[in-house]
Amino acid sequence: MTQLIKARQGIITPEVERLAKVEGLTAEELCEKVAQGRVVILKNKQRKNSIAIAVGEGLRTKVNANIGTSPDCVDFSDELHKIRVAVAAGADSIMELSIGGDVDAFHRQVLDTFTLPVGSVPTYQTGMESIAKHGSVVDMTAEDMFEMIERQAERGIDFMAIHAALNMSIVERLKNQGRITDIVSRGGAFLTGWMFHNEQENPLYTQFDRVLEICKKYDVTLSVGDAIRPGCIEDSLDRAQVQGVIVAGELVQRALEAGVQVMVEGPGHVPVDQIPATILLQKQLCHHVPYYILGNLVTDIAPGYDHITGAIGATAAAMAGANFICYVTPAEHLRLPTAEDVHAGVIATRIATHAADIVNKVKGAREWDLAMAHARKALDWNKQIELSIDPPTARRIRGERNEEGAEACSMCGGFCAMKLVGEHLGKTGGTC
Ligand code: SF4
Repeated sequence: MTQLIKARQGIITPEVERLAKVEGLTAEELCEKVAQGRVVILKNKQRKNSIAIAVGEGLRTKVNANIGTSPDCVDFSDELHKIRVAVAAGADSIMELSIGGDVDAFHRQVLDTFTLPVGSVPTYQTGMESIAKHGSVVDMTAEDMFEMIERQAERGIDFMAIHAALNMSIVERLKNQGRITDIVSRGGAFLTGWMFHNEQENPLYTQFDRVLEICKKYDVTLSVGDAIRPGCIEDSLDRAQVQGVIVAGELVQRALEAGVQVMVEGPGHVPVDQIPATILLQKQLCHHVPYYILGNLVTDIAPGYDHITGAIGATAAAMAGANFICYVTPAEHLRLPTAEDVHAGVIATRIATHAADIVNKVKGAREWDLAMAHARKALDWNKQIELSIDPPTARRIRGERNEEGAEACSMCGGFCAMKLVGEHLGKTGGTC
């Protein structure tokens, strides 16, 4: 039985019991949210070593880091290093998205080595194997697609992006409405090419029940992939995107009826004023299941700084109800990220989601800031560094231009406002 089916029967699983404490809810409250489909628990039944996380309404906003090889950069030891960096920076999950090298072996290594939930996009590996076997992505068969989903589920992948909410009608609308960036989803591009070449509907859409059967068997959380997400600000909330959300909502309903844990992927590039509407639309049409988004990237003009454009959008999105944010790194749109990019992406996204969690009254969020405020007032540098979201960076910067043991910092030196005012008021410390 899946966590969803158990929750509907009122069974409080060990995962619900533990995660309720982590999130500051009672086990009954969390169980109810899982039963409604508003929270998913990411844990494949096959994985014995993993530590589940809960994603959804009323919980801390979670952060995912994407890693994986490309055909041009196949270095699995580097990808492993990036996962370690992501974990150390506080990522809640990773998606392994390799499209080069021995992906099966790498998946096994990742699942054995790490305890955090691991996601995938099975269509990527199907496409790569099709190129090796038949010479082209468009020659993969429907059977290849379902065999790959089962293979990855059986191995222990905890959540999968499946681009089932893409059909001919959406692609035709896209073609006729004059979108600028067409399709920017890799899985969406593979399947669109396949549909045109084979003059057939997307098998993941027409045979969606087979996807559900596999997810149910292993309790893989289905992430309805956003094949049609906008790839630039101008394309946001166009007709094709909205049609994709309508189809996603229909698939979500079928997943919930089948007892499959499900969430929905979203954009992508969204102007900041359209973020609340985008989230409202998704939540209303998709039965309030968790919303998993990339960014949102709030402008197109900042390559090299897209962890910042993504972080601005992530705060707005999480405030409006997004539950799970895929990081964006400074390398987005430019190249495969390095370990340094991964670090910057995770930290930027965690800052963004924490800012939203403060407003959303998530357990512990405001308390964290309050503890930092007291440490600042007390000029307690060790405590400030300990409380920092990225302690090594805070420690390095503090050490660069401050004398050993200096009470204030080199910003104001002897004119430290906190220290001076504190002395006048008969207190120690001050405030920046
Ligand atoms: S008031 Fe100035 S010197 Fe004192 S801690 Fe803040 S920035 Fe540093």
